[in-house]
Amino acid sequence: MKTPSKTCAMCGTTFFRKKKITHKRWEETRTCGRACGTRLTARDPAWRQRVGEGRKAYFAANPEAKAALVVRANAQLASFRHLADRAKAGRTKSQMALGWCPPEWLDQYKKWRRDYGATTAREMVEGEIADAEKRRLAALTPLQRRTEEQIKRVQAGAGLITVPVMRRAEHDFSLTGNALVAM
Ligand SMILES: [Zn+2]
Repeated sequence: MKTPSKTCAMCGTTFFRKKKITHKRWEETRTCGRACGTRLTARDPAWRQRVGEGRKAYFAANPEAKAALVVRANAQLASFRHLADRAKAGRTKSQMALGWCPPEWLDQYKKWRRDYGATTAREMVEGEIADAEKRRLAALTPLQRRTEEQIKRVQAGAGLITVPVMRRAEHDFSLTGNALVAM
């Protein structure tokens, strides 16, 4: 049986005795010595200073090594950009294809699409959504329905205006005469 032995202070990975568990800075850093140890080292300003100066001196003495590094770095950057563009294009394409479908219906749509094909599946989902909306509206009181219609009209760009009630001449305002009117 493996016995947990050491836990990395940064990523929490536990190491087992059977694995090679120590590296030369374990006592000092308590990190796993892979990515974590490297990251920790890279945070040390003294280390960065020392390595930075070493690199500067090396590249100053070897201009062709510097040129080669620039070429490699640019190639790497171009490949990252290419991958990022591809990923973005893929996301946009699937968003466009499924943009009509509310997220909560996506799983059901995909199931139906597998069984009945895309066109039928979409009709089925849209039918279900329309039925649910009909049921919801039927359950509303007339006042709730009217309020909702007014909110929808305002959301669609209608203005909120005050309709003066002429018969109440003693006031220049009315608490009951304010209404939402589509412009
Ligand atoms: Zn770690």
